[in-house]
Amino acid sequence: MFVTKLLIHDQETDASDASTFERISPVTGDLVTIAAAASPADMDLAADSAAAAFPDWSDAPPGERRALLNRVADLISARTIDLIAAMIEETGATELWAKMNCELAADIFRDAAAMTTQITGEIIPSSISGNMSLAVRQPAGVCVGIAPWNAPIILGARAIAMPLACGNTVILKASELCPKTHCLLGEIVRAAGFPPGVVNVVTNAPKDAAAVVEALIAHPAVRRINFTGSTRVGRIIAALAAKHLKRCLLELGGKAPFIVLADADIDEAVRAASFGAFMNQGQICMSTERIILLDEIADEFVDKFKAKATQLVARDRREAPSPLGAIISLEAARRVTTLVDDALQKGAKLLCGGLARGAFMDATILDHVTPAMRIYREESFGPLAAIIRVSSNDEAVTIANDNEYGLSSAVFSRNIQEALAVAKRIESGICHINEATVSDEPQMPFGGVKASGYGRFGGKAAIDEFTELRWITVATGRRDYPI
Ligand code: NAD
Repeated sequence: MFVTKLLIHDQETDASDASTFERISPVTGDLVTIAAAASPADMDLAADSAAAAFPDWSDAPPGERRALLNRVADLISARTIDLIAAMIEETGATELWAKMNCELAADIFRDAAAMTTQITGEIIPSSISGNMSLAVRQPAGVCVGIAPWNAPIILGARAIAMPLACGNTVILKASELCPKTHCLLGEIVRAAGFPPGVVNVVTNAPKDAAAVVEALIAHPAVRRINFTGSTRVGRIIAALAAKHLKRCLLELGGKAPFIVLADADIDEAVRAASFGAFMNQGQICMSTERIILLDEIADEFVDKFKAKATQLVARDRREAPSPLGAIISLEAARRVTTLVDDALQKGAKLLCGGLARGAFMDATILDHVTPAMRIYREESFGPLAAIIRVSSNDEAVTIANDNEYGLSSAVFSRNIQEALAVAKRIESGICHINEATVSDEPQMPFGGVKASGYGRFGGKAAIDEFTELRWITVATGRRDYPI
């Protein structure tokens, strides 16, 4: 069992009132972490620390920021075993998923390091004689990053790497479900040697979430909020950001459609659908939740998909290694089972899986899903794929768009022109042709539309999120004024 502290101004501290909260393993039911439960007053301390560090850090040359960010990447690689152990213990993830988290997180920091010298501006021709007009990007200020548990190392890294690269100071608000994993990431960033206050990490008890998040957003020094989590909480963050007139980036839920056209390579589509639907037990915002099949190929796809999914069993890793690990909590597993039961009552056909054993549930496929079933619309965030059969490309697009979410999507076809035509009509931030819906690279513009949020993480798109674009003029001649 592990006790975590807050990281404020380079000091590991208890919460100011010494409160703590517990994280229980979803697999064993054992207590795995006791974490500091910060209060709104602690959030003010973290924001004050980040504000005090901002003038020097925002002025630091890009080479200095680049070296520190690259050092974080190296330290993540060096501490991979510890990170994997913490993530498995707190979330029940597989070792494979935890390892993928470490690798991508290191890449996120390396990419952010490279971006430090790409934060460029422009000279804009002015109609005023002798006027030189500059568009200049400057660091925004203190950035709050709120990251969830499902890909905790990737999303913790994403919440702070580009804000730091752009010259901002940061506060990472950890997930209540994996405080040790997020604090370990904080410890690694601290070990890289950032000046005090540049990186702060705070943890809070679930009951205090609303109060501490509001304290952070309300703090006058905080200029940007990035939030990755559910659409329900995303709406709360957006409302708070509006109240305090702060800009926010929202990466929210998803219900990715995966369309298989009549001329698709079915074997490839099955491989991509299996990975996309069941990796990390379907607990990825990009997880394939709806598989939309043209009638001509539906039976062949379903037979092959079922054969593959039947091999994707979930087990306690202490018994034997398995492709699927645990769902984040017993409550979440029960919710997934409820969605299965609702669909079965309304006429869906269960092809495999469907029963939860504690937090474990094998890959589950429901065929003949209709709009009357909850699974048609609701994000399951579990190892559950819903199959919907359609008779035309137009109907496939209509079904894909008949959902409030719009994060990732995929289209399979050997005819790239046709696939592109379909891809363009799907209402989502991301669409992959002949690839899984689950895919991420640090330099790509990652983000959603509709209820999946707004704003973009990744590469150059993130520069806009985490800088202020300023207009600065230099008059080189005498100006005429009308009065
Ligand atoms: P969640 O929204 O339940 O919790 C996230 C955060 O919200 C926590 O830090 C919590 O402290 C805070 N919070 C809770 N109640 C609050 C309140 N009343 N006011 C202010 N803050 C509050 O999300 P989760 O269950 O941790 O994550 C799963 C969700 O995240 C899924 O919907 C998934 O699709 C989404 N997700 C999206 C992306 C993406 O990039 N779009 C990536 C990963 C996960």
